[in-house]
Amino acid sequence: MPFATSTIRERARRRVAVRVRAGEPCALCREPIDLSLRYPDPLSFTVDHVVPTNRGGTDDYEQLRPAHFRCNRTRSDGPDGTVGRNSGALG
Ligand SMILES: [Zn+2]
Repeated sequence: MPFATSTIRERARRRVAVRVRAGEPCALCREPIDLSLRYPDPLSFTVDHVVPTNRGGTDDYEQLRPAHFRCNRTRSDGPDGTVGRNSGALG
């Protein structure tokens, strides 16, 4: 599972969004992120796990980073079908 609960996911999104507002770019393509864009816009804001949760990553703040939905989806695309649910974009 990506985030243990939607509450944890929303808290993580808010905290990472603060970093985006401060100028932190997409962790994957290094382009800026427009927080006004909404899922499923390919350039909308998502929270990426440095270590994917399906490989033992946790929801600790230190291992979360901002990414475009487009970039996050490309990276996390896999046979287990976690795309979308793993993006943190469905808020
Ligand atoms: Zn990106």
